[in-house]
Amino acid sequence: MIVVMEERAPEELIQKVIDRLMEDRFDVHRSTGVIHTVLGGVGGPETFDTAIVELMEGVKEVHRVISPYKLASRAFRPEGTIVKAGKVEIGGNRMVVMAGPCSVESRDQIERAADIVADGGATVIRGGAFKPRSSPYSFQGLGEPGLQMLREAADRRGLAVISEVMDISQIVLLSAYSDILQIGARNMQNFNLLRELGRIRKPVLLKRGIAATIEELLLSAEYILSGGNYQVILCERGIRTFETYTRNTFDISAIPVVKKLSHLPIVADPSHGTGRRDMVPPMARAAVAAGADALLMEVHHDPDHALSDGAQSLNPVQYAELMVQLRALAPVIGRTI
Ligand code: PEP
Ligand code: MN
Repeated sequence: MIVVMEERAPEELIQKVIDRLMEDRFDVHRSTGVIHTVLGGVGGPETFDTAIVELMEGVKEVHRVISPYKLASRAFRPEGTIVKAGKVEIGGNRMVVMAGPCSVESRDQIERAADIVADGGATVIRGGAFKPRSSPYSFQGLGEPGLQMLREAADRRGLAVISEVMDISQIVLLSAYSDILQIGARNMQNFNLLRELGRIRKPVLLKRGIAATIEELLLSAEYILSGGNYQVILCERGIRTFETYTRNTFDISAIPVVKKLSHLPIVADPSHGTGRRDMVPPMARAAVAAGADALLMEVHHDPDHALSDGAQSLNPVQYAELMVQLRALAPVIGRTI
């Protein structure tokens, strides 16, 4: 149930509504907007008569949320959510570019990557230190030393950091080095991990599962939100279909669908979405046009020798050219990069 308070309703009236909902064992999640405060009541009795709250002083309207996700629904924050990671804001008018190698491979490699991505205009550097690889014999990442290198390179260029957490046991370590914790596609329905992420107060980027519907993605986000961590960013990274030409099928329509259904920012990852470097620029441009709040792209100084995902990593020239194009494209839809 979503309770929208009247414009600038006084705190004491808001508190009365919260108390009334809690009396009926609702978990109450509060979103304080510039104009309206919205209360999300989760749980509670199914037979609860919404008129009880509707008639309370200071209440503008009450909606029963019929979607299975509540806190992730657009109704909870009609104006949209802006997630802050360091100095970077994701979900505002300014589009964000997150770029960097698939994996942190060495100090030299990540220092070069920091220069390439920062010079092009990205404000967040990516790089995995714990890698979910399909084969146990593939490069698994450098672990903590990799995170250290990533943080140092980022700090030298004033970039925020995003890196993947694969397991509950890595949350504390990742939180120390990374501004955004990435949850990989293979972990989108690792519900124990999602619950733990609900307990922390760090931005989480949740990638869509390889065969997940948009509703399943939003329900996974709900696990994190219902724990009280509202800093969730969603990511479209392609899904598995019968098409084999590209590594995945990049579901661009998921971007406007998520925008309609949810207040959470949506990021597009055309690198994993296509698996091919030559397809990344057109799909990145399409994602900007479709309304993505940010792009997550793999960039490597020497993609042919990358230890992971080289085929889909842009080389420095391709990346620089693409950034020029994206900056020209964004104003067409009223945004900046
Ligand atoms: C990655 O970002 O390098 C990655 C492993 O992504 P995904 O979980 O989308 O496959
Ligand atoms: Mn990758």
